[in-house]
Amino acid sequence: MRDTPLLLCTDMDRTIIPNGAQPEPPRARENFAAYCAQPHVTLAYVTGRDRGLVQQAIAEYDLPTPDYAITDVGTIIYQIDQADWSRRTEWEAEIDRDWPEGGRDVLVQALDSVSGLRLQEPDKQNTHKVSYYVPDASAHDSIRPAIQQALDQRGFRVNVIWSVDEESGTGLIDLLPVRANKRHAIEFLQQQLGVAPRQVVFAGDSGNDLPVLISPIQSVLVGNAAADVRVAAETAVQESNLRDSLYVADAYYAGGVLEGVAHFMDKDSPGA
Ligand SMILES: [Mg+2]
Repeated sequence: MRDTPLLLCTDMDRTIIPNGAQPEPPRARENFAAYCAQPHVTLAYVTGRDRGLVQQAIAEYDLPTPDYAITDVGTIIYQIDQADWSRRTEWEAEIDRDWPEGGRDVLVQALDSVSGLRLQEPDKQNTHKVSYYVPDASAHDSIRPAIQQALDQRGFRVNVIWSVDEESGTGLIDLLPVRANKRHAIEFLQQQLGVAPRQVVFAGDSGNDLPVLISPIQSVLVGNAAADVRVAAETAVQESNLRDSLYVADAYYAGGVLEGVAHFMDKDSPGA
């Protein structure tokens, strides 16, 4: 049987990295690595992690080295050849189109007047990502409108993403270009590689994967995903008639990713 080329895009934490509450199925990561080692599979990690944290996870969890990595919440795409990680600058040109002229400096300046924000460390920043800590996460309700007002006053149209570091309880804010998101980055990579939509599969587990999970991109929700994420994803695809593009796996982590890939790719194989 001839193997159809596959661009396999997967989230890392709690999708292929078994760092959630549920147990990992036996040999899940070995099977995943063996699957990805096949020549017809192009592997891309899609993650909020930066390059250093991606490399750390690869070493710590014995994950396969990917061909591409969409990192820093979708702001950077790396092409990886053995140990060489090179940035796809076409992507940065694409997301730069709606990033303020003057770049990150003018955004930092604009938010200077908003109290309760502390810039994150330099390795958490890049040309298209301005990241802050909100040490008092309960101040969220007052800081949110203050940020929006400061941006609106200057006519800056950027995405403001709020999250909470579960371990420390610290609030996190990322300012990102409007186009810099997981879904758009995957579609960009797909176009650059010239592969058809039916040759792309994404896998994820949580709320920040939802925009991809509910899009026309063939997607797998791993079995360990929280019930509210599953309900949100299933409801959304039902409403938009995209039921066939979402597969909810039974298996956890990498086991669920492989289960979902088999679901989508077997449909294409002769005789299926
Ligand atoms: Mg995740």
